Amino acid sequence: MMAKNLKYQDVTKAAMDTPVTFHPPARDASPAHAALREHALELFALPFNDLLLRAHTTHREHFDPNRVQRSTLLSIKTGGCPEDCGYCPQAARYHTGVESQPLMPLDEVVAAARRAKENGATRFCMGAAWRGPKARDLEPVLDMVRAVKALELETCCTLGMLKEGQAEQLREAGLDYYNHNLDTAPEDYANVITTRDYQDRLDTLERVRRAGMHVCCGGIVGMGESREGRAGLVAQLASLDPQPESVPINDLVQVEGTPLAGTPRLAWTEFVRTIAVARILMPRSMVRLSAGRSAMSEAVQALCFFAGANSIFYGDKLLTTDNPEVARDDALFAELGIAPG
Ligand code: SF4
Repeated sequence: MMAKNLKYQDVTKAAMDTPVTFHPPARDASPAHAALREHALELFALPFNDLLLRAHTTHREHFDPNRVQRSTLLSIKTGGCPEDCGYCPQAARYHTGVESQPLMPLDEVVAAARRAKENGATRFCMGAAWRGPKARDLEPVLDMVRAVKALELETCCTLGMLKEGQAEQLREAGLDYYNHNLDTAPEDYANVITTRDYQDRLDTLERVRRAGMHVCCGGIVGMGESREGRAGLVAQLASLDPQPESVPINDLVQVEGTPLAGTPRLAWTEFVRTIAVARILMPRSMVRLSAGRSAMSEAVQALCFFAGANSIFYGDKLLTTDNPEVARDDALFAELGIAPG
């Protein structure tokens, strides 16, 4: 039992001193990597308040805790994807009611980017539902990157797997970030996606790095994985060397018609824990509170910001699913005293 007259500093010290050792990041299933997973699991198992304190303290050491960066994500080519990601309403094989749309014309993309900037976004992300872009697909996307960059926005694309040379083309056009999520821990991957494997993901991430772009790489929780799976995902992300600059953590948005619709919902505490562990293991990365915010209370979102999330997707659509309206986010940030990052 805690002594009544214990001061805040003592409580802080006690929580920070709990016996959780730090293990440096590693790339693969080596003993060091296994130790990192073990460390992630130990963090998950901490009492909620101790974990949050530790995550928030780490966050304050590296970031202004009262700033949250805002990115806007636009679907530039929707639906009809040949892949079988079990969470995705854009996979052609699932009947989800998403209407396929070809690549958006350049002027519409530029108009959307301009609106995003006016609303306060600093990064504009363009997503296309492809396994990976063919050469003829990439050319018009390069024009989009150039045009969005000219608006003095940071640029990001998520286009699927990249072939040799494509990352360099994107970089030369002015792309700042490439998003490619690991989605799950390696051992859970085949339960969610069978049309590509984990190594394919890692290969594309390697190409993005070699081309000199920033990496945006995260995952999805609430897909029926165990806590070990969540720890494995965060440890895998933290093992990337260098660690991703941007780490989107998504809470599964269940869409009728996808195989994962009907999965038992993840407890909100477990989602906040995932954010906290990501913050501790990737102290310098921007941790983005991504999909799933529409179903989250303001209180849970505020806890995520306390636990170290410092980026969001901003705008009422997230590819094909709902996201909180800008006015609702603005009201929440005003309430919390959070400024744009
Ligand atoms: S997540 Fe991407 S790759 Fe997977 S089905 Fe959806 S659009 Fe295709």
